[in-house]
Amino acid sequence: MKVIVVGSSHGGFEAVQELLQDYPQAEIQWYEKGDFISFLSCGMQLYLEGIVKDVNSVRYATKSKMEQQGVHVFVQQEVTAIKPQDHQVDIHNLVDDTTRTEAYDKLIISPGAIPAQLPVPGKDLDNIYFMRGRDWAIKLKRASVEPDIKNVVVIGSGYIGIEAAEVFAKAGKNVTIIDILPRILGTYLDKEFTDILEHDLKQRKITLALGQNVQKFVGQNQKVQQVITDQGSYDADLVIEAAGIKPNTEWLADVLELNPDKTIKTDAYQRTSQPDIFAVGDATWVTFAPTGKPAKIALATNSRRQGRYAVKNLEKAQYPTPGVSGSSALSVFDYHFASTGIKDATAKNYQTEVASIYLEDNYRPAFVPQTHNAKVQFKLTYSPKDGRVLGAQIMSTVDVTANINAISLAIQQHLTVADLAYTDFFFQPGYDRPWNIINVAAQKAQRQLNN
Ligand SMILES: Cc1cc2nc3c(=O)[nH]c(=O)nc-3n(C[C@H](O)[C@H](O)[C@H](O)COP(=O)(O)OP(=O)(O)OC[C@H]3O[C@@H](n4cnc5c(N)ncnc54)[C@H](O)[C@@H]3O)c2cc1C
Repeated sequence: MKVIVVGSSHGGFEAVQELLQDYPQAEIQWYEKGDFISFLSCGMQLYLEGIVKDVNSVRYATKSKMEQQGVHVFVQQEVTAIKPQDHQVDIHNLVDDTTRTEAYDKLIISPGAIPAQLPVPGKDLDNIYFMRGRDWAIKLKRASVEPDIKNVVVIGSGYIGIEAAEVFAKAGKNVTIIDILPRILGTYLDKEFTDILEHDLKQRKITLALGQNVQKFVGQNQKVQQVITDQGSYDADLVIEAAGIKPNTEWLADVLELNPDKTIKTDAYQRTSQPDIFAVGDATWVTFAPTGKPAKIALATNSRRQGRYAVKNLEKAQYPTPGVSGSSALSVFDYHFASTGIKDATAKNYQTEVASIYLEDNYRPAFVPQTHNAKVQFKLTYSPKDGRVLGAQIMSTVDVTANINAISLAIQQHLTVADLAYTDFFFQPGYDRPWNIINVAAQKAQRQLNN
């Protein structure tokens, strides 16, 4: 069997890994249009802050190591067209500008996404950057140490925008964050959490321009100088646009059925509308476990899972890709937070009725002095109809983020607050209290539900 895999990031990488295990005899051809395979954008902040020194180490596969395992790796070769009726793809070699055709038995595509560009006047000025992939990582690193760059405007306050803001604030720049939403991290955290983070960012002299709509970029000599919103203007020697992503699917529009947002339509087995063609990653939707309905949640974890499941279903559709809850975690200066599933702020988008319990507590018993203790904020969201667990958020200056993985499992397994109220979680004063905060919140939710 000959399998062609397109895209060398998370989704493509995992498809290749599963192929090597499940189909060791298969001929695997792996295509990447960029000049570098498997760059890890998730690791970009660590590189930009100088914790990881070498940009080329921010990866999880090299061409030579993959070739040692028998994978045929093609870099700077773009798959430009698919001919499903012939089981063929066209490949453009970007180095010598030639094109050739390759046949496949099975095709797995993980073309991913590119950062969305705001369609406003001045969008093509210089010094408007994006934060995705190795090339932008190198440019951003240079900008972070460029003395002429003093004012940095980040557009978008999702996790990528917040990472960018932190990098440039730590590099000594004046940072402004603009977002159309009234709160930072608005789809990740509810107000109880973002109030704390926003206060902290302001203390660090980061300007928050929230609830504002970017109208244009103004520049001189082709270089950006200001970002103009509907409510103000902000000086900018550098702009970083982190206002969403666009699926990399223009080349597929005539071949594969797409969703209204231009992601590739797949079924639960990662099959596309064409036989023997599978799609995974940011260019597809996932099944959102709290609702059981499709949703767009662009995360490496999701891409990786889907890459594995595409291969599991290569010959026979028998293993539906498990639903996901959009679990994610981030550090913002001294705070660590994680969230999963539905929040009060996103319940409307999912047309789901929710109830929540919000708690603030110490993470260790009260007798442990504050020098060795810390506050934890936790919120558990559940269905007021039947107590089903739908989501949770946690934040502290200590790293308690892993608690959220338990909630993710609870959502996936359709557990209720009654199931979590007395679950056996460990206690040791060095790490936790006799009742883990999940127990405490679930016990309160149970009472709230019964009243
Ligand atoms: C700054 C940043 C931080 C992030 N942090 C996290 C994190 O901490 N945790 C997390 O879970 N997620 C994180 N993500 C999200 C994660 O990076 C993405 O969800 C993931 O990269 C998606 O993988 P993918 O395989 O779908 O596609 P992509 O990563 O978009 O890669 C697609 C690849 O396919 C190639 N390609 C596309 N079309 C073709 C073609 N026709 N022919 C050949 N090659 C092609 C592209 O060049 C690219 O290399 C982060 C993203 C960013 C930008």
